[in-house]
Amino acid sequence: MKILPPLTLAFVLTLMTHLSPAEDLVLSLRSRADVDGAATTNVARWDPDKTALIICDMWDDHWCKSAARRVVEMAPALNETVKLARERGVFIIHAPSTCVDFYKETPQRSLAQKAALAKAPIPLSSSPRWGTSWCWPDPKFEGVLPIDDSDMGCSCEEAKCEIREAWTRQIKLIDLAEGDAMTDDGQEAFNLLTERGIENVILCGVHLNMCVLGRPFAIRQMVKLGKNVALMRDMTDTMYNPERPPGVDHFTGTDLVVGHVERFWCPSFTSKDLTGKPPFRFGEDDRKSSGE
Ligand SMILES: [Zn+2]
Repeated sequence: MKILPPLTLAFVLTLMTHLSPAEDLVLSLRSRADVDGAATTNVARWDPDKTALIICDMWDDHWCKSAARRVVEMAPALNETVKLARERGVFIIHAPSTCVDFYKETPQRSLAQKAALAKAPIPLSSSPRWGTSWCWPDPKFEGVLPIDDSDMGCSCEEAKCEIREAWTRQIKLIDLAEGDAMTDDGQEAFNLLTERGIENVILCGVHLNMCVLGRPFAIRQMVKLGKNVALMRDMTDTMYNPERPPGVDHFTGTDLVVGHVERFWCPSFTSKDLTGKPPFRFGEDDRKSSGE
């Protein structure tokens, strides 16, 4: 056997590294057969080249002071997780609803606008002929939400916050990188996924009982489109006021909604599967054990 000179060997090794397929994401996907039943976890291997991560409504501000504070707290950990996912080859979509015009001059916004029109297998919730861009709860798919958010869920303890137009852009703590896309539109999101042959979609951001389920790029729509969907459950929050039923603390309320998603829509996993670090936890979550 001919011995390769060291330089050639180095060249061959470099070539092999670049040609070898991207390493799969190994995700511990948790789901439930019953709302109150035990969770089961299955390990899934997802090809990062066929996976998108969608960041829902991580705005710069919120009408509820507590909700705004929690977004500021979660954003650095989310940004770090997104960075690692991006490095692995996952396609990142920033989706700060109603604020994408703020980004009209950016390459991330043009990437979404220029994606070729793809015909969805079902009418998308953003389709103008349906007159809505929201995927409402669907009794064919799900039971009622386990928390009462009919007061819109301000969790502030003293004065309750007044609903106002608060957000203008995505929070600055989350970086836009080359190759990322920016859209809040169901059709544009579907075009981007189709163009890249993406079958797996990770959802994160806020708020799980509202936008992360209902937006036209979010969980209900992606499940109905037949994607493999997973919620990154430590990178989300809810609008839930503990004074409302079922009268649990805010973070237990979030865990209940995670359970609802795991039962009716899609499995969940934690950022630990991407970062190797313990899952994110809010500082105000003083429960002894989290719903992890
Ligand atoms: Zn509030």
